[in-house]
Amino acid sequence: MTAESKPLHFLQQLVKADLEAGKYPKIVTRFPPEPNGFLHIGHAKSIWLNFGLAEQFGGVCNLRFDDTNPAKEDQLYVDAIKHDVSWLGFKWAGEIKYASSYFQQLYEWALHLIREGDAYVCDLSAEEAREYRGTLTEPGKNSPYRERTIEENMVLFEKMRAGEFDDGASVLRAKIDMSHGNINMRDPILYRIRKQSHHQTGDTWCIYPTYDFAHGQEDAIEGVTHSICTLEFADHRPLYDWLIEKLPVPSVPRQYEFARMNVNYTVTSKRKLKQLVDEGHVDGWDDPRMPTLAGLRRAGYTPESIRKFCDMTGVTKANNLVDVAMLEHAIRDDLDKNAPRAMCVLHPLKVVLTNYPEEKTELLEAPGHPNREDIAARSLPFGREIYIDQDDFRVEANKKYKRLVLGKRVRLRNAYVIEAHDYLQNDSGEIIEVHATVVENTLGKNPEDGNKPKGVIHWVAAHDCVDCEVRLYDRLFNDPQPDAGDKNFLDALNSESLTILKNCKAELGLQKSKPTEPYQFEREGYFCLDSQANTLVFNRTIGLRDSWAKIKDT
Ligand code: ATP
Ligand code: MG
Repeated sequence: MTAESKPLHFLQQLVKADLEAGKYPKIVTRFPPEPNGFLHIGHAKSIWLNFGLAEQFGGVCNLRFDDTNPAKEDQLYVDAIKHDVSWLGFKWAGEIKYASSYFQQLYEWALHLIREGDAYVCDLSAEEAREYRGTLTEPGKNSPYRERTIEENMVLFEKMRAGEFDDGASVLRAKIDMSHGNINMRDPILYRIRKQSHHQTGDTWCIYPTYDFAHGQEDAIEGVTHSICTLEFADHRPLYDWLIEKLPVPSVPRQYEFARMNVNYTVTSKRKLKQLVDEGHVDGWDDPRMPTLAGLRRAGYTPESIRKFCDMTGVTKANNLVDVAMLEHAIRDDLDKNAPRAMCVLHPLKVVLTNYPEEKTELLEAPGHPNREDIAARSLPFGREIYIDQDDFRVEANKKYKRLVLGKRVRLRNAYVIEAHDYLQNDSGEIIEVHATVVENTLGKNPEDGNKPKGVIHWVAAHDCVDCEVRLYDRLFNDPQPDAGDKNFLDALNSESLTILKNCKAELGLQKSKPTEPYQFEREGYFCLDSQANTLVFNRTIGLRDSWAKIKDT
């Protein structure tokens, strides 16, 4: 199905209807990350959705840092998030926005609520407050501080703001209804004391608004029309609307919820991802096995493949678990179409071509891509000694083995047909060298004697290749739902998620490759240069086989 003919998802339908009804001259959405970790594949879905809707319907999308909790936030994350959003190919409207730049306005709105008798300072301890809150089946009880006078509340809130109380000594709460069926409406907390420096506002504030008090008001300040969040926030919507109604806000945003994207064999909680980094289970936030955008980028995923994946997985209101094979399918499909081809031998075995003159070398030509003329052809040096993969030679083998067998023939990819006639072993019986002959006149042609080889193998010239390291990555977890229920996700770590091959031999042209530039190593998979290593290290993005395509076809 093409993008044009695909039916609109429910949020597209909603925006379309709002625009047709003339509800808004143009839509404004926002992507509101908290800078307390790197963005992951789940965030990509939200980015794609918010920026995508704005793009599709001629609106704009803001990038707003929801930085109301200084304890866990850091400028490092702010920078990483900006980079990731741009890398995905999206442009935010105007300047970057920060919830913290609205702190003064939010503070004034808190005073407004107090003045209207809609908020009060409460001194219950966290534990007491929990007891007073009630449960899903039992109503809560009014706080003994609920009937403080407006004047008293004004004085106490000013004191909170002035730093006269300790962390946790009191909070500002909305005065709604302690017996409300929705627990979020039982006098929710609006402000907390937190004597902590903030990465944007320094020591200006020692009280910080809660998510609930900040989010809708930020939306209103920015003129956001459609405030899209994940399903967990559906229960917060009545509070969102209550605050918008009570406050003299400049616009009326509406909150809509969709199902968060969950991907199997993956965790997408920032807390858990941070734990993997902090405890050294991975090599940083950008480890190629991490489901972070930084990790996916370092592994060789393209922004296009991630956007495609978001599109493939749809937008719904029902929580579901997406098969990670779909993401792998998206990148494989992209790289198959776009990655230049190259040869790299992962487990080198020397082959001496005994009938090829010792001093002779030649340059063969190979296509850059089997069906892309715009991808430049490459020159392959050829000489008497070459490397093939250890797996591609057998002394004896059955008919299914279509590679080089003693006494038989194989085609070297983009080069000659060769025939093996001898081999050398070391003391432990391992094959260390193969002797073969070049079958004459077989460049781009079948052998004249009619003895056609069955298979094709890759190779590089021994006299003109480059040494490199190859890192083969596998899934980080070997449990499809590593953190479901009360499982400890660390128990599901795959101990074989990284295999390092040190002495690989690559075609010379790969010396000039740059990080994130993808290649198909013929017969091996898709690879790209690692961005952190200072020697030639290639990361495997994905293998060649597509298990998802098979699932889809059946
Ligand atoms: P945490 O992992 O710490 O609970 P979070 O995932 O909610 O945090 P935020 O920085 O608050 O992280 O997320 C920014 C935006 O991305 C929010 O609007 C959130 O709803 C959305 N988002 C986060 N995870 C997903 C997901 N898996 N699928 C879709 N959207 C997501
Ligand atoms: Mg959040």
